[in-house]
Amino acid sequence: MHYQPQHDLLQNRIILVTGATDGIGKEAAVTYARHGAHLVLLGRNDEKLHQVAQHIHQQGYPLPHCVVLDMATATRADCDAVAQQVETLVPRLDGVLHNAGILGDVVPMAEQEESRWLEVMQVNVNATFFLTQALLSLLLKSDSGSLIFTTSSVGRQGRADWGAYAVSKFATEGMMQVLAEEYKQHNLRVNCINPGGTRTKMRASAFPTEDADKLKTPKDIMPVYLWLMGDDSRRKTGMSVDAQPGRKPGIAE
Ligand code: NDP
Repeated sequence: MHYQPQHDLLQNRIILVTGATDGIGKEAAVTYARHGAHLVLLGRNDEKLHQVAQHIHQQGYPLPHCVVLDMATATRADCDAVAQQVETLVPRLDGVLHNAGILGDVVPMAEQEESRWLEVMQVNVNATFFLTQALLSLLLKSDSGSLIFTTSSVGRQGRADWGAYAVSKFATEGMMQVLAEEYKQHNLRVNCINPGGTRTKMRASAFPTEDADKLKTPKDIMPVYLWLMGDDSRRKTGMSVDAQPGRKPGIAE
């Protein structure tokens, strides 16, 4: 995507990023801070969260708030508690990037194990939904809120062996579409980003033999993350946007 964001695109915006400790989420947090945002970082590992927060602060940006939540076990009540904690830290949320996700097992449907299936659905769908529900009132306090989910090409077109992950991303697309319709008349837009094959630990575990040098890095795909989070996408809602338009799904060639 060719997008030239204003340097101060996210000035005075307060943004929460899930899965902010690694890969695309970490890069998005750093990028949003660079464009003026105040951040709330959410992750399951307190130490990694504080390392990312310090990294951002050392570059001269405000110290992000850190909130610990293990989405693999999070209930609706846990997500409510997180929202209450966030409310004590910030007056509103102008954006939420739902980025945290897990891959599960890349095996045929007949071999999907119950516990792994449930874990993928819990992290990618259930906890993501409970957190969304809990954070909605903070998002609706913004004059221009942006709620972004993370999808995948296998969340639009099923592919053999992508099992629980693919199904969870179809659910993510559905969740986005329902919410986008429900909040059409409010100052809240709801969209999905499909990062496309990107050089992270999740990608390496999905395609262990792939030459990672042929993949875009998280930094390369940030323009669409900025565009959807900033006011240039105001009133765009219900969309599923590719961070790498035209890229064919599958192994990098
Ligand atoms: P990574 O595995 O590099 O990072 C995933 C992030 O999610 C990490 O911060 C991780 O935390 C966090 N996370 C995992 N489990 C939990 C949990 N139980 N509770 C809280 N946080 C958790 O993945 P990517 O950066 O590659 O992926 C980011 C998103 O992009 C995902 O939704 C993925 O499905 C999607 N995506 C990625 C593609 C790619 O090619 N990379 C392609 C298409 C979609 P921790 O640091 O503790 O492990």
